[in-house]
Amino acid sequence: MILAACSNVPVAEPVATPTKGGIKFKNTVVSLTFDDGDADNYTVRPVLAQNNLHATFYIVSGFTNTNGYMTSDQLRSLYSDGNEIGGHTVNHTKLTKENDDNLIKSEICRDRSNLMAYGFEVTSFAYPYGYYDERVKQAVHDCGYNNARVVSGGLNTIPPNDAYTLPALPYIMSDTKFAKMSRYVKDVENEGGGWAIFIFHHVCDGCDKFAVDLYTFTKFSNWLGTQQANNGLIIKTIDEVIGGEVKPPVIP
Ligand SMILES: [Zn+2]
Repeated sequence: MILAACSNVPVAEPVATPTKGGIKFKNTVVSLTFDDGDADNYTVRPVLAQNNLHATFYIVSGFTNTNGYMTSDQLRSLYSDGNEIGGHTVNHTKLTKENDDNLIKSEICRDRSNLMAYGFEVTSFAYPYGYYDERVKQAVHDCGYNNARVVSGGLNTIPPNDAYTLPALPYIMSDTKFAKMSRYVKDVENEGGGWAIFIFHHVCDGCDKFAVDLYTFTKFSNWLGTQQANNGLIIKTIDEVIGGEVKPPVIP
C-alpha cells in the first residue's frame, strides 16, 4: 500500500536531533601537542591510531634515547603513524635567559638537524617554557622552522597572526577532566570557531602536575575521533595547518 502524500493523518515532522550530547562542528580545528618527548608519551600511540588522530610531539633531542624519554625508534614509530615530530631545543634551554646568540642558535638548529638525521621532516618548534623574544624568534626562523608555539594565549585563527608565536590553550594538568577538555572544543565552535592547540606533557596517573592520565586521554581521544568521523571536527598536526616547504637543516 502506498501512503498518499495528502493523507490527513497528522505526522510529526522529523526533527534533526544531534547525537546525544552532540554538536556539529563547522569552524573548529584542534591540534594535540605533546612537549618534551617523555617516555610515557609513547603509551598514547595506539589510542591516537585507533581514532585516526595525528598529534605533534615536540622533542628535546638531547634527551632522546636517555632514561625517561622516548627512543629514536619510538619516535620513528609515531612518525610512521602520521604524527608530527617537532623541535624543542637540544637541552630544554630557557632561550631568553641566554646572552650568547651562538648558543641560542646551536640549541635550536642542532636540535632540528638531530631530528632530521633520524629521518623526520621537521617544520614546527615549541619554545621551552614558552620563553621567547625577538632574538629567539629570529633564530627559530633562521634554523629553518616554519612555525613556533608558545604556551598560552588561547585560540588561533587560520592563518595565524604570527606563525612564530602560535598561542595555545591552558596547560592540561593532572586535575583537568574529560568534561573540561571536551568543553574547550565545544566552546570554540559555539563562539564562532578557531584553531585550538592543546598542550600535554606527561601521560601517567599522578606522576606529575603536568600530566594527563591515560584513561582521561583515551576518553578524550575517543570523543575527538567520533567528532572527527561524524560531526565535522577537524584535527590536524601543526604542520598540517601551517604548511610550507621543508627547509634543509641549518648547521650553526
Ligand atoms: Zn618543554
